[in-house]
Amino acid sequence: MNESIPDCRKCGACCSMRWSWPVLRRDRSDAAGIPRWMQCDGLPLMRTNNGRCVALAGKVGSPVECSIYVDRPAACRAFVPGGMLCLEARKKFGMQECGMKPSEEEMENQH
Ligand code: SF4
Ligand code: SF4
Repeated sequence: MNESIPDCRKCGACCSMRWSWPVLRRDRSDAAGIPRWMQCDGLPLMRTNNGRCVALAGKVGSPVECSIYVDRPAACRAFVPGGMLCLEARKKFGMQECGMKPSEEEMENQH
């Protein structure tokens, strides 16, 4: 495994970053295999609970699993581990961005 790419199986931050994520295609053509109760009524979104996708199993930052992995939305498939959004999501949960230098402020706070 590339050491600069975080391990999704011990993360789950992007699955828990906000109520409006993940999106489904407008026509829900990527939702055929996803249980209807996991999808929002009225909006092409997965249902969330406190900003956390209901399909996520496990605690963010420890072993986690997408319970609909083979049927997950197109947006989840396109999400890039190690990309900017990934790093932002990880930071929100206190996980250091992999492969990036800590800021001076973060270095200061370590003392
Ligand atoms: S935030 Fe990044 S590392 Fe964490 S699960 Fe999402 S893509 Fe994987
Ligand atoms: S569908 Fe799966 S991969 Fe996508 S946000 Fe939910 S738990 Fe994460």
